[in-house]
Amino acid sequence: MDDRLFRNAMGSFATGVTVITTENEEGIHGMTANAFMSISLNPKLVAISVGENAKMLEHIQKAKKFAVNILSADQQKESMQFAGQLKDNPYEVSFTTHQGLPIIEDSLANVTCELHSQYVAGDHTIFIGHVTGVILTERDPLLFFQGKYRDLKELEQQ
Ligand code: FAD
Repeated sequence: MDDRLFRNAMGSFATGVTVITTENEEGIHGMTANAFMSISLNPKLVAISVGENAKMLEHIQKAKKFAVNILSADQQKESMQFAGQLKDNPYEVSFTTHQGLPIIEDSLANVTCELHSQYVAGDHTIFIGHVTGVILTERDPLLFFQGKYRDLKELEQQ
């Protein structure tokens, strides 16, 4: 099958946008990810999928914990910063701490996790996190659809 066809079809699944954060002796590391899902209510488990070339892979394996910061509509710059899209003009991001993990301030929600298990699947590793804490606000979400950032208002007008 053609790679582009596969990517275009997967990109037609509209998602929110998260930044995964973790910290080890090398410092705080963040990575933008939309491959995020809720897995189980009891126990509370979530999953993320990290590419084999992403530095985040080793950072999570070392730290054995990570946070999922679900971005709000006004955090497109944060998403671009942690996707490596602002290298020429880095955007300063404010972190705070929750359950011993760095989290991004003013997110729509923050979910902190201890690493539960990991599974290599092709060129990605799926990390399952056991949820240790949640912060939830009432902001609108940042959305991603067909390779572009979107917001709820834009979709309502269509
Ligand atoms: P790097 O490329 O080193 O880091 C990413 C960027 O974050 C760099 O610019 C770095 O300077 C910055 N950064 C890291 N830590 C800090 C810090 N403490 N303070 C300030 N800046 C910092 N990839 C996946 O594997 N899975 C996904 O689900 C996924 N979803 C994506 C969704 C979207 C909408 C986008 C745009 C990209 C997605 N990617 C995904 C791609 C992924 O975000 C990039 O490939 C990313 O560059 C990989 O990061 P890295 O861990 O290799 O680290």
